Amino acid sequence: MSEGRGSVTIRPRRARPFFARHPWVFVTSVERVEGSPGPGDEVDVFSHERQFIGRGLYNPHSAIRVRLYRWDDGPLDEAFWGNLFQRALSLRRDVLRLGGPGTAYRVVSSEGDGISGLTVDRYDRWLVAQFSSLALFEHRAPLGRLLAEQTGVEGILLRIDRSVAEAEGLRGAEDVLVGSAPAEPVVIDEHGLTYQVDLRGGQKTGFYLDQRENRRASARFCEGRRVLDLFCYNGGFALNALRHGGATHVLGIDSSAPAIEAARRNAVQNQLAHARFEVADVMPTLESLRARGERFDVVFCDPPKFARHARGLDDALKGYLRLNRAAVDVLAPNGLFVTCSCSGLIHRSLFADMIGQVAELSGRPIQIVEQRGQAPDHPVSASCLETDYLKCFLCRVG
Ligand code: SAH
Repeated sequence: MSEGRGSVTIRPRRARPFFARHPWVFVTSVERVEGSPGPGDEVDVFSHERQFIGRGLYNPHSAIRVRLYRWDDGPLDEAFWGNLFQRALSLRRDVLRLGGPGTAYRVVSSEGDGISGLTVDRYDRWLVAQFSSLALFEHRAPLGRLLAEQTGVEGILLRIDRSVAEAEGLRGAEDVLVGSAPAEPVVIDEHGLTYQVDLRGGQKTGFYLDQRENRRASARFCEGRRVLDLFCYNGGFALNALRHGGATHVLGIDSSAPAIEAARRNAVQNQLAHARFEVADVMPTLESLRARGERFDVVFCDPPKFARHARGLDDALKGYLRLNRAAVDVLAPNGLFVTCSCSGLIHRSLFADMIGQVAELSGRPIQIVEQRGQAPDHPVSASCLETDYLKCFLCRVG
């Protein structure tokens, strides 16, 4: 890894968040860059008064010009990354007690673990590394080697999030980074249910690990209930509702045909073949269910991210409102509505306001009985509250 030669000076009165250990130095905060650093090079970041703030990696192509990793003047060398990985691993192993054969969990959660731009998920004996920073991607070979050494896995696969890659100028192939890839889908166990996970072709890194605890927690309201699972992916909420909740019927809806095929396979594999899964677009489906007078006692609603940029926030809120309004319309009186948002830009209070608007528009009282977030292997960094991204509100709708 290269020497810390370049330096970045922050504009007047813009340095406060970086002293407070927020890792994203946006181009709009940068006054000047010296030493012509290239993509992935180390830079020192200084306040306008020339006070040293911290050290990070530079990306001339990204709006996030520097990602900060340390607030002293030590090097960003292998010992440093190795130490961050150790800390991340120890949280999962010693504190959260995750691990063991067939388990799946997030090993490194980007800013949540002080490693902005890298998420790593473990599926049994494999890791899937997803880079969202060009600068870290440039260092993928030594980082992959360190991860393999520390975890003892058989292989590490590389996945690239296309939308982020474009913003970062990250061009690379999805490949095997270390060791070998599994020949078959990997079978994982979560809450006593098994799932076949496609590490190469599945969405994200193959599975939505952040909803693990919410899938289980929601199930306890499903005894004897008819359940609708909107945006069901490979069936996690629905299968938990049947296995752990004692739901009588579940219907899962997702627009992705491979996701629904996987959901059906997972249902059969878990002897829950009475689960129904259909490939469909959620909004028109809700409209036809409503028109036919079909009602559910429990509705899960876990859409993909609506807000990608701050400028898209208003549209995203309108989208959540329309969707949540339509979902509540197929909920029986006093039904349970589990509604989620994985947009980090929509803060909890904004999300709660949106639910308040649903109450107003539908003319039905809504009580938020539980407010949840992402699973603890996706920790929230107190210095970067954008990491508190997943909202999962359990609501009773009168
Ligand atoms: N609840 C899931 C994760 C959902 S992720 C779990 O627990 O694993 C969001 C899902 O929404 C993806 O599977 C995606 O295929 C699906 N999706 C996106 N747009 C959709 C639409 N308009 N209608 C139905 N499904 C959609």
